Amino acid sequence: MKSAEWVGQQLKVLPCLLHNQTFIAPTWAQHSTPSLVIQQYNLAFQNNIDFVGLRYGGSGDYHITSKLHQINNFGCNSSDFVGLEGEIAFIPSGSCTIFTKAFLAQGANASAVIIYNTAQGSLPGSRVLPSPWFEGDPLVTVPVFGVSFSVGNYLREISINNSWEVLLRSNTTIYTTPTQNLFCDTPGGDPNSTIILGAHLDSVEAGPGINDNGSGSATVLELAIQWFATGLTPKNRIRFAWWGAEEEGLLGSRNYLRYLEQHDQAEFNTIALGLNLDMVGSPNFIPMIGKYSSDPSVPTAARNGSNYITKLFMDHYASIEAQHEFIEMTAGSDHYAFIEKGIPAGRIHSGAAQKKDIPLKRKYGGLINAIADTCYHQSCDDLQNFSSEILDQIPVAMASVLQTLANLENLREKLREGAAIISTNAQDRITFKDKHEF
Ligand SMILES: [Zn+2]
Repeated sequence: MKSAEWVGQQLKVLPCLLHNQTFIAPTWAQHSTPSLVIQQYNLAFQNNIDFVGLRYGGSGDYHITSKLHQINNFGCNSSDFVGLEGEIAFIPSGSCTIFTKAFLAQGANASAVIIYNTAQGSLPGSRVLPSPWFEGDPLVTVPVFGVSFSVGNYLREISINNSWEVLLRSNTTIYTTPTQNLFCDTPGGDPNSTIILGAHLDSVEAGPGINDNGSGSATVLELAIQWFATGLTPKNRIRFAWWGAEEEGLLGSRNYLRYLEQHDQAEFNTIALGLNLDMVGSPNFIPMIGKYSSDPSVPTAARNGSNYITKLFMDHYASIEAQHEFIEMTAGSDHYAFIEKGIPAGRIHSGAAQKKDIPLKRKYGGLINAIADTCYHQSCDDLQNFSSEILDQIPVAMASVLQTLANLENLREKLREGAAIISTNAQDRITFKDKHEF
């Protein structure tokens, strides 16, 4: 909220039409380190290594001593949860979302939920929230822990021996709170052909979020300032946007589009496209242009327009003779809120957890075998966590594409026609998948 107030103050000096939208978002706070212990052995598992208290799992101070109730099947149907009243539901990962499993277990009066990973390696998921979540949607108030594959195997053996119990402690709160999206519209430009350029203003709880997403939201602010400094009137209206609660599941952009679709269809129909800036200053950067995904789960209505925007970014990179890669716009950030509604979208991104290998290091410099932002979603995403080289490049690319789109005659027609995405040296380019869990 404070960041929105600050951006609002900066916008007051611009000749823009300022408006906002308030919506309700859930927040989850963990008040103490959770614990998981096998009483009979006095064996304590390690937080964040053997197990994790999943975000949005539980609201309250819980000290639970209980048997584990092994759920057969994947726990995706209410019939999987019979006779576990007061016990801890012990459920394998997979087949449906963590939220579905936990919500069904809660409905069957489980005292808590432990989800074990069925694949070797990491801990399962991170969030127990339906996606998307809107005001009035359910939440899981019993604690939900995730355990690793090996701990899962061990506990499964224990759960067969009915005399053993585990002690689970969790002290967390879920509350809902109003937050907002902020908008600044150009007074001129065709109001039936609106270009939305947005960035999320929130960060994760762990840190200040300078690269994710101070970098994107500051760039949108700077582009707004520079646009108004030109004194030009665009052919198409530009709406500069700062989204709230992206990190909780694209809640700001999703609430905005859903509200318009349900209550103001005429305004919804004016939206020609959405552009997104999320993480554009990554220290170990890989410049990635958003590309429409071949994933069949992505609706096709936005394909041509998204390809058209991708081509504009490619043309810009060709004109400055600079290299880039691609990233599929399957999920990951606010552009997806547009795509899932059938609205064309575009993005440019400098990387989060994508690893830089030797060929990428040759193209862009930086660190080999390190991810693009080693402080991604951590407390060290602070004022030192950026590369000025990429912060000089991406805002210019977005400015160039925005200027082209803003001044285009027949923008809607051009978006409908689309463009072929033919890369001259396509064999050298990587298309990264976006593995975010939205
Ligand atoms: Zn982000």
